[in-house]
Amino acid sequence: MICAPLAEPTLEAARRAMLRAAQRADLVEVRLDRLDALPRAEELAAFLKDRPCPVIVTNRPKEQGGGQDWPDDVRIKTLQAAIELGADYVDVELDLADRIEERHRTRLIISYHNYTTTPLDLPNIYSRIVRLGADVVKIVTTANSIVDNLRMFEVLRHAEVPCIGLCMGEAGRISRILCRKFGGLLTFAPMDPSHETAPGQVPLDELIGRYHYRSINSDTAVYGVIGDPIGHSISPHIHNAAFRAAGINAVYLPLWVPGDVCTFIEAYRGLPMAGYSITIPHKESAMGALDDIEPICRQIGAVNTVVNRQGRLHGSNTDWSAATEAIEAALDGEPLAGKRVALVGAGGTARALAFGLRARDASVCIYNRTAEKARALAEEVGCEWAGLDALAESESDVLAHTTSVGMHPNTEDSIVPDSALRPGMVVFDAVYNPVYTRLLRQAAEAGCTTATGLDMFVNQAVQQFKTWTEQDAPRELMEAVAREYLAAAQ
Ligand code: NAP
Repeated sequence: MICAPLAEPTLEAARRAMLRAAQRADLVEVRLDRLDALPRAEELAAFLKDRPCPVIVTNRPKEQGGGQDWPDDVRIKTLQAAIELGADYVDVELDLADRIEERHRTRLIISYHNYTTTPLDLPNIYSRIVRLGADVVKIVTTANSIVDNLRMFEVLRHAEVPCIGLCMGEAGRISRILCRKFGGLLTFAPMDPSHETAPGQVPLDELIGRYHYRSINSDTAVYGVIGDPIGHSISPHIHNAAFRAAGINAVYLPLWVPGDVCTFIEAYRGLPMAGYSITIPHKESAMGALDDIEPICRQIGAVNTVVNRQGRLHGSNTDWSAATEAIEAALDGEPLAGKRVALVGAGGTARALAFGLRARDASVCIYNRTAEKARALAEEVGCEWAGLDALAESESDVLAHTTSVGMHPNTEDSIVPDSALRPGMVVFDAVYNPVYTRLLRQAAEAGCTTATGLDMFVNQAVQQFKTWTEQDAPRELMEAVAREYLAAAQ
């Protein structure tokens, strides 16, 4: 179930919010501690009368995340009044649970909150709450690391009494989506971010629209993109839409891993995860946690795709093949073999592409601002190199730009001189935000054929989808979702 928290200053505002929320959520939680003043019994009665959906009544003290510090006696009295008025659920904190005398037909949620950590003894906390006679156990802790969520999932997996188990904070966000897979009774999702009542809640639209929360069940395969930062990744938008369109029971999550990626991957083997995309800064170090790695990844020194094959984690790299595929499409059937390629940049993307171009038998020259880096990469790959100044006189069939120059917001920047561009050349830019960079506009004016960073991005997502599902990806949809996201991000 999805519960929309109502954190309004008056009951009248909460009533209006409840009418809206009931159209999408299964129930609402009215937070009496967020009201400007405690309601009188008749006001509460009016609120509960003719309610369009079940209601949880909560009156949290400040030290447990509440908005007001009303004395315990007063809080308990209001909760008891809500029970007398027939509220569907009343939420009372663990330490005061034995002060509720009568519960009639109201279901009692007994809750534990921890605003600093996710304690190791969650099973004991669960048992204590059950012994107090809870109709619903609620345990909400703080995830200091994404690994903390795993302990909460274990509680949900083994719970015999209906249980709400969630982790707060950015690192706990995935618990608010995945709780359903492990049998959690509900998740809290505000109608918009300003209605958030605990850190890390996923807004209702996002939960339903992006993560398809209502379709998640115990069989749902879990994928995700590992990175730091990860909040603005396009990948969850693309892959969740693709899974949905292909009728695949899977969810794709942003996985924020600021620390050691190998520790994370090892810990999540037990979930189990079906596959990963891996992005900055973990493409190199993640290799240490995998069982099998494709040979070209060892040369490149990076993986960006992981698939779980019967418990073995297999790593591959779609960056190089996605970029060469984008260039090959622009070459319109002509092979890359023998083509003279000016590769601009010597960072991570250049490295993947350099080995990819060599695998395609292209003749590569690497140009970079720091000439020493161009030389070092060229020596490893076995190709030519030069400083950026030499680009003006370069004579190539293909120019592949892999630096971040031209990326939003510096959209008028380009390090490629017009003299390096000739009619009939193919020009590829790895930058995808904006899609039509200054360089690609220069190239179009010079009569070159262009390949965009978005082409590469969609290619790698399509290849990942195929690796994970062994099905063809809904490419057009994935590209449309990416374009929509980028347009909204401007
Ligand atoms: P990176 O490893 O940090 O490499 C950065 C490269 O850019 C280096 O060669 C650096 O030169 C050069 N550079 C940076 N600022 C420069 C400037 N002002 N003038 C000249 N050269 C400059 O970065 P990366 O991970 O390869 O990413 C590069 C770009 O590719 C980013 O825009 C990223 O978004 C994009 N990308 C796109 C895709 C896709 O799917 N389309 C995938 C991955 C990355 P020095 O060595 O001299 O510092």
